[in-house]
Amino acid sequence: MTGHRTPPPVVEFTGVGLTYPGPPPVAALRPGDLVVGRGEYVTITGPSGSGKSTFLNVAGLLDRPTMGTYRLDGIDTGALKERDRTALRGSRIGFVFQSFHLLPYRTAVENVELAMMYQGGRRGRAERAARAREVLARVGLGHRLHHTPTTLSGGERQRVAIARALAAGPSLLLCDEPTGNLDTATADGVLALLDGLHAEGMTILVITHDRAVAARAGRGVAIRDGVISGGVLR
Ligand code: ADP
Ligand code: MG
Repeated sequence: MTGHRTPPPVVEFTGVGLTYPGPPPVAALRPGDLVVGRGEYVTITGPSGSGKSTFLNVAGLLDRPTMGTYRLDGIDTGALKERDRTALRGSRIGFVFQSFHLLPYRTAVENVELAMMYQGGRRGRAERAARAREVLARVGLGHRLHHTPTTLSGGERQRVAIARALAAGPSLLLCDEPTGNLDTATADGVLALLDGLHAEGMTILVITHDRAVAARAGRGVAIRDGVISGGVLR
């Protein structure tokens, strides 16, 4: 047998940049490198307009960079056709947003099950139902399976969103201001959940203005005027 190979980083940006065409063109993300290894918990901070959303959209395979190479789990995403990028996004990336983005008239378990249909994968209906219950139990909502978002607290809604993000068994959890709509005590509970997922080996990238969030992560990356700094760590 040959020796074992080191697994590739989850995120590897090599000279990745994005310029919106305009006119006038806007260099929203300057060409730069970023490596996020498996199991890392990294926060990205920067002022409004610095390129955080652009970064998230590129890292989340929602936008294609206009420069450089983005490898996700060692896969060169620039070489993929659109449907393969979509499939990769569904299976490997879980998104958590500030405003939850839940379907208001669906229960917690339905929200997770329906998302799994869009995430792709080969689970049948019964398997999806079982998996939805499993991830909702993991985020502490085993007793709220059949509640709709309107009957859940903000913290519970964000937990449903986290369960949904975990459902496909992603490589990367991408969170955009996950505590931005929560009061401090509730935010703390959500952050404790992220800490727990990190302890279990999940790779987490969080965009945040919140110092309390940044302080909990293993590593902070700053972005200013589209320039990512502190990005390389090997
Ligand atoms: P942040 O999320 O940190 O507030 P953004 O990534 O949204 O920053 O924006 C970075 C820069 O790119 C800003 O100058 C913004 O005005 C510009 N920008 C964002 N989206 C577009 C777009 N679709 N077309 C042109 N410019 C854009
Ligand atoms: Mg933004």
